[in-house]
Amino acid sequence: MKPTPSELEAWDRDVVWHGFTPMAEYEPLVIDRAEGCTLIDVNGRRLLDGVSSLWCNVHGHRHPKIDAAVREQLDKIAHCTSLGMGNSTTAALARRLVDVTPEGLEHVFFASDGASSVEAALKMAFQYWRQRSDPRPQKTKFVALGEAYHGDTIGSVSVGGIDLFHDLFRPLLFEVLRLPVPDTYRLPAGVAAGEACDFYTGQVEELLASRHEEIAALVVEPLVQGAAGMIMQPQGYLRRLRELTRQYDILLIADEVATGFGRTGTMFACEQEEVAPDLMCLGKGLTGGYLAMSTTLASDEVFQAFDGTYADLKHFFHGHTYGGNPLAAAAALATLKVFDEEDTLASLPEKIACVQEHLVRIAELRHVGSARQRGLMVGIELVADRATREPFPWQERRAAQACRAAIEQGVWLRPLGDVIIVMPPLAMSIEELDQVMLAAEQGIVAATAA
Ligand SMILES: *Cc1c(COP(=O)(O)O)cnc(C)c1O
Repeated sequence: MKPTPSELEAWDRDVVWHGFTPMAEYEPLVIDRAEGCTLIDVNGRRLLDGVSSLWCNVHGHRHPKIDAAVREQLDKIAHCTSLGMGNSTTAALARRLVDVTPEGLEHVFFASDGASSVEAALKMAFQYWRQRSDPRPQKTKFVALGEAYHGDTIGSVSVGGIDLFHDLFRPLLFEVLRLPVPDTYRLPAGVAAGEACDFYTGQVEELLASRHEEIAALVVEPLVQGAAGMIMQPQGYLRRLRELTRQYDILLIADEVATGFGRTGTMFACEQEEVAPDLMCLGKGLTGGYLAMSTTLASDEVFQAFDGTYADLKHFFHGHTYGGNPLAAAAALATLKVFDEEDTLASLPEKIACVQEHLVRIAELRHVGSARQRGLMVGIELVADRATREPFPWQERRAAQACRAAIEQGVWLRPLGDVIIVMPPLAMSIEELDQVMLAAEQGIVAATAA
């Protein structure tokens, strides 16, 4: 017997343990299927997917070409290991990834989640300094940004800087050198907007100059700190990080898990500041939002330090059961193919401008402190007082109220603190984008009326 919608909702509430979800007040919303950018729940309710199923959907759900690629792969093999053997689809994907990513990234390590790709990057950086031809084993520390988010495993939480998520676990974590968050909305007193880049990169230089002997790598979310609430870095900041990490002989890890695959308007955020990192983490949009896959790309220089025989004991002692999964690789290859065939990147400027037009209007609302955007990454921050940037009491959960109201308008949004996140699939049409932005606006009006 097929379970009824209400049975499914009960199991979803009582048995499934949802991440980042207060279960005592969770109201089940059980998605059964999708069409394009629309999610459909077990009761047939239709909701536009305004956050790309948590920032990972790219070309819409059930894209015929990606669906076909996964089906075709099923007729070959669903999974084989990448430890000591390879797979034809995965090898072809690795080759493509080297082509599309910034210059110098030539080796691709596969895992399943963004957090694992960061975890691998951290361990690679650590091991690199011990066994490169001119070893520097004292370089063991990592630099990360305030409000950083790199995933939820212990290593990636260690470099994370969001107190609400991470503070509780501090006793379990390794120590990290923390830079202030390069926030362009809440600038330190006395710093003008035009001085922000110099101000923040000055702090970076100070830290690197004094501690570089012990620093293995600096990890950064390029251009936008997503989970922090879409905090936008000043222009030139990333570029300067690259210059400084070169100058002080520190590896640069670019965590493009959120920003990768067209999100910021270019294929990768690093491109906008012409930055080539030593290690790059990809996840989320890699498979178009279809299957769990992530990668850590490494420069040849990093890779060379690991390139040895068994007797050398230099290889990377790390690997995941499903790393390089062929089904996921097929979805990823098809995702990249669709970027080419549908000229996805060329379609973005019009969509980005459409969202921007809405944001100009939304920014005028009485309780909108900041309506910020980079490509199709948007954060609308609600504040009690625009002049002082005074937040609402956090218990009021105004952004969550706004998102709940948006659901009534047929749009699924998910907030981060007092920030309403809009992160539509790149495939979303102008008409759908209009609907998403209008729902966000009406939600904000409803949530800030009293
Ligand atoms: C989402 C995210 C991660 C973690 O990815 P998971 O697949 O959820 O483990 C890491 N880094 C950034 C920048 C992210 O946005």
